[in-house]
Amino acid sequence: MSQLLEGKTALILGVANRWSLAYAIARAFIRENAHVILTYQGDRQKQTVEELAAEIKAAQVLPCDVTQDAQLDALANGLKHQGTVLNAVVHCIAFANREDLSRPFVETSRAGFALAQDVSAYSLVAVARASAPLMAPEGGSITTLTYLGSTRVVENYNVMGVAKAALESSVRYLAADLGPSNIRVNAISAGAVKTTSARGIRDFSKMLEGGTKMAPLRRNTDPAEVADTAVFLASDLGRGVTGNIIYVDAGMQIMGFALSE
Ligand code: NAP
Repeated sequence: MSQLLEGKTALILGVANRWSLAYAIARAFIRENAHVILTYQGDRQKQTVEELAAEIKAAQVLPCDVTQDAQLDALANGLKHQGTVLNAVVHCIAFANREDLSRPFVETSRAGFALAQDVSAYSLVAVARASAPLMAPEGGSITTLTYLGSTRVVENYNVMGVAKAALESSVRYLAADLGPSNIRVNAISAGAVKTTSARGIRDFSKMLEGGTKMAPLRRNTDPAEVADTAVFLASDLGRGVTGNIIYVDAGMQIMGFALSE
């Protein structure tokens, strides 16, 4: 196997369990010989993430709730204190209230809208600000995960689609800010994958069914495909790519209307 991330250290946020896209990404990074640091949100997840980290030989597991500035500061200070120099950060975090992923979008509350924006979009800005000073002098890569519902209406995706639109715009503004330090910022727009978060979207199984019928490749997205694109972006192969939204969705994003199966 290739060793595309040999000598690189990556911070990966958002492993909840073995179905998480962040877990697939962590496995691919370790396959490519990266030194991987994982984070978990709260004590509830600590043991699970530590067990998964041990299984895949991740180097370290640290706490970080991205809505808490103090926890982001503690993460950055702790890494700095131990002399960690980062080459890559992968942000795989999103949250919205379940009721906002099932009722009409027009009924979204002010609090539900703000919560989705805070966890799913603003957190990338906060993570980028905390991690940029830890990046290697030659620069590095920040990658986040988004979905087609940012630019198209996907039934029930609702408030998360609006948060993903803010996230994708943040990718462009961050790429412009951090580009002079050779820090690249990109998003991977993944096709639908059955994960804990995705199961919170009403009728998510119908989205998966739609993928097998409508996507040009006539199948859904494999988390390993998303992970390999994350490897590419974090590796030297991705050195010229910043401010981009890269679709890894079996081609779903090009489809307008399908008349036949
Ligand atoms: P997942 O396994 O449920 O991962 C979501 C992660 O976000 C969990 O680890 C969750 O931690 C974490 N999180 C939520 N609030 C947080 C907070 N305040 N601080 C720190 N972490 C927090 O689901 P996933 O599908 O892999 O999601 C990862 C990313 O991929 C998300 O941005 C999602 O929108 C994106 N994405 C998913 C799909 C899909 O179809 N699955 C498609 C395109 C994009 P807890 O479990 O501890 O709450």
